[in-house]
Amino acid sequence: MTTTAIVLYTRDLRVHDQPALWAACERADRVVPVFVFDRAILRSRYAAPNRVSQLVDAVRDLRSNLKAHGGELVVRHGDTSEEVAQLAVEVEADELHLSADVSAHARRREEALRQLARDHLGDRLRVIVHDAAVTVVQPGAVSPSGGDHFKVFSPYFRRWAEAAWREPLPAPSSVPTPTTVATGRIPALDDLTDPGRLAPELPVAGETAARQRVEWWFEGPVDAYDDTRNHLGADGTSKLSHHLHLGTVSATELAQRVDRRSAGQEAFLQELCWRDFNHQMLAARPDLVHTDIRTRHDRWVDDEDAVAAWKAGRTGYPVVDAAMRQLTTEGWMHNRARMIVASFLTKHLYVDWRVGAWHFMDHLIDGDLANNFGQWQWTAGTGTDSRPNRMFNPVTQSRRYDPDAVYLRRYLPELADLDDATIHAPWEAADTLLGGSGDYPPPLVDHREARERFLAARGA
Ligand SMILES: Cc1cc2nc3c(=O)[nH]c(=O)nc-3n(C[C@H](O)[C@H](O)[C@H](O)COP(=O)(O)OP(=O)(O)OC[C@H]3O[C@@H](n4cnc5c(N)ncnc54)[C@H](O)[C@@H]3O)c2cc1C
Repeated sequence: MTTTAIVLYTRDLRVHDQPALWAACERADRVVPVFVFDRAILRSRYAAPNRVSQLVDAVRDLRSNLKAHGGELVVRHGDTSEEVAQLAVEVEADELHLSADVSAHARRREEALRQLARDHLGDRLRVIVHDAAVTVVQPGAVSPSGGDHFKVFSPYFRRWAEAAWREPLPAPSSVPTPTTVATGRIPALDDLTDPGRLAPELPVAGETAARQRVEWWFEGPVDAYDDTRNHLGADGTSKLSHHLHLGTVSATELAQRVDRRSAGQEAFLQELCWRDFNHQMLAARPDLVHTDIRTRHDRWVDDEDAVAAWKAGRTGYPVVDAAMRQLTTEGWMHNRARMIVASFLTKHLYVDWRVGAWHFMDHLIDGDLANNFGQWQWTAGTGTDSRPNRMFNPVTQSRRYDPDAVYLRRYLPELADLDDATIHAPWEAADTLLGGSGDYPPPLVDHREARERFLAARGA
């Protein structure tokens, strides 16, 4: 008897090391990979133009990669579970394969699929969910004694590194998609979003570009990562986050490739672990997207002008402003810069972390619930940081991590002519604190006063 399996793609848009695709191809005679442009997601604030544009490109690339393996990507539009149920009837599917994921939305989707299979397909459709397809270690697979998830990174890293990881899977040699099923059109970008709101310098998305980037990274740069990762002006990080976000590269494949004898590669592995750490936090605390993990009784300041200046890169602190302009130009920001601007918003301006986290979500190509909201809470001191009241001094950070001001000059042309001694704190060259340089604004707040206000508010 012929068996048919559907593979539901979500944010695992690849053919290499794709457990759901692999299992379907191993077990079934006919394989129907499908991606649904989900109406509810596309209408939500979550669908920022930069990420939608990356998604469309990644789906196009996936279709051509599946074709190269003899298959086809079926594309549908609407409600994911309803579209999959309809497709299951149409192709007389026996199995549905998908990757486990942790957000509240992903869990509701999985439950809805199981329910539809039970209620409308008479249990004919077996739903098979594959673990460790989005992360290296499935959230919940390692836990501390006396708890269900880790709240501190270091012990998590030790257990994570010792856990049994999946072996990476090759792309299936052939994907036998039946030719009778209607394939569906991949929408044009302007069907889904306003292309006028795209950042001007977005990288290429999709598995093909991801695999090229991985090869470049492991051919050399990764070995210097322990030195280069904090240099704001260097291209010293992998820039794989947007690929990891859409699953156009597998986290397991990256982690398994790491040679732990190299200090650079070991540092890179730790960052991959941070990603898993945040995912196991989100799995245990789906509310971390809106609720403080640890309440600090903050009475955040509601200051629209300050928030507008922060978003526009006009705070008067060059490193903060350069970073915010990197975000709107590239849809990406260096990790050190993310920490500096998040600390500045929540501690210097004492503005609610949710305001900053959503602004990031509006622009980031890698914007993701686990990492973005987890890291915003970490920086605001409402999350898992063991030193919740630490404050980054933007000038010290700027001098330390961009000593030659390469980063500052790249994004702040109006300061480009200042010398290296002045550019990190232009007001110091003027006689008064409220000095400034040409059109560049004076500092929005004084560091020392802001620090005193924040520490007093926190009762520290
Ligand atoms: C306030 C704030 C918000 C952030 N929002 C996001 C987000 O929405 N999406 C996102 O992927 N990362 C986020 N990060 C983490 C980090 O800044 C980015 O992952 C990193 O800058 C991506 O660049 P890269 O791929 O070159 O990273 P690399 O330095 O090359 O690291 C490799 C991979 O490890 C993971 N990683 C690195 N640092 C972290 C970290 N601190 N936490 C979790 N995973 C990490 C990413 O998947 C990254 O691609 C945020 C950090 C902060 C401080």
